[in-house]
Amino acid sequence: MKIWVYIDHFKADAVSASWEAIGAAKALGGDVAAVVLGFGVENLANSAFEYGADEVLLGQDAALEDFRVENYATALSALASDATPDLLLFPTTSRGRELAGMVAMDLESGVLVDVVAMEMDGDKVLATRPIYAGKLLQKTVCNATPQIVTLRGRAFEKPEAESGRSGTLTQVQVTSGDEKSTVEGYAEAGGGVSLTDASVIVSGGRGTSNNPNLTAPDGMSEDEAEIWRAQQGFALIAELAETLGAAVGASRAAVDANYIPYANQVGQTGKVVSPDLYIANGISGAIQHLAGMRNSKVIVAINKDADAPIFKFARYGVVGDLHEIVPALNEAMKARLG
Ligand SMILES: Cc1cc2nc3c(=O)[nH]c(=O)nc-3n(C[C@H](O)[C@H](O)[C@H](O)COP(=O)(O)OP(=O)(O)OC[C@H]3O[C@@H](n4cnc5c(N)ncnc54)[C@H](O)[C@@H]3O)c2cc1C
Repeated sequence: MKIWVYIDHFKADAVSASWEAIGAAKALGGDVAAVVLGFGVENLANSAFEYGADEVLLGQDAALEDFRVENYATALSALASDATPDLLLFPTTSRGRELAGMVAMDLESGVLVDVVAMEMDGDKVLATRPIYAGKLLQKTVCNATPQIVTLRGRAFEKPEAESGRSGTLTQVQVTSGDEKSTVEGYAEAGGGVSLTDASVIVSGGRGTSNNPNLTAPDGMSEDEAEIWRAQQGFALIAELAETLGAAVGASRAAVDANYIPYANQVGQTGKVVSPDLYIANGISGAIQHLAGMRNSKVIVAINKDADAPIFKFARYGVVGDLHEIVPALNEAMKARLG
């Protein structure tokens, strides 16, 4: 079987899930080629070999310097039409999803999105993916060729990089098509560790604003005071996250109430994450939030309400006020981690 793995990157900085996808492809068997598109991205070809690719298809063009899905899809679809891989793997990032969808249209195939496990079934890949907000797992096959699959980040193990490993480097000619958009610049999003790559996430919900011991500064409206209180709560969460080298997540209620930007939202309409450790603070555990984090290896919940649904999914639960527990946990972690 001929497997292509698309290496997703921003300005030659690859997302870790691209290397996980190479590991997943190797586990299926067959020839594994990494597809590296961009401009000034030779370093990614070397990394792809080190993570296990047998071949790298390197397509470079100035028009591919910035990711614009139409250019990338034109380039990738043309390559795949010529070389006819059996399986195309992408990481489930926003770029990966968009590109996989467009390439599937061009190649008249389908896409299995957010897959968490794969196995061979005859000459086809049988993919497992969560459905109904993660309540069920579905096993499914894409019957068209190439089969196109996006893999959930951190659901597959990242191979150990083997320094100095190499393979066949094939420079490919890319056609990038009509440009429908121009990129004028990038704005720094800030916020430290990326949510989707994080192995530890400390999250906050509506409970962050509920601190009866905190009096908002004079002159604030009720809404402003609520946001101010929540920001103090999220500052405690950020401190714990910093101690643990973790990313900061949030529920949609916290995002909708303007406590924290949308980029931090975890859940059905936010980011889907699978860290080793997820600490949920003042989050009730609504089904839509669980859809984004229930695959975390260990869930810790801190909530005032002993009956909060999140406790049904948590390995460890602390019933109490997050404003007392989070700082205490932070001190304990600092002492332990030095
Ligand atoms: C179509 C759709 C999509 C959605 N997508 C998402 C999504 O992607 N992500 C998401 O999160 N939600 C999503 N939601 C919203 C979801 O249904 C819930 O409303 C939301 O998750 C609730 O957020 P919360 O747990 O922070 O707030 P609440 O449900 O209000 O819970 C707050 C919790 O904090 C606890 N608490 C209060 N004070 C304290 C304190 N001082 N210390 C400790 N605990 C305290 C309370 O006991 C309570 O359990 C979606 C909803 C819909 C309809």
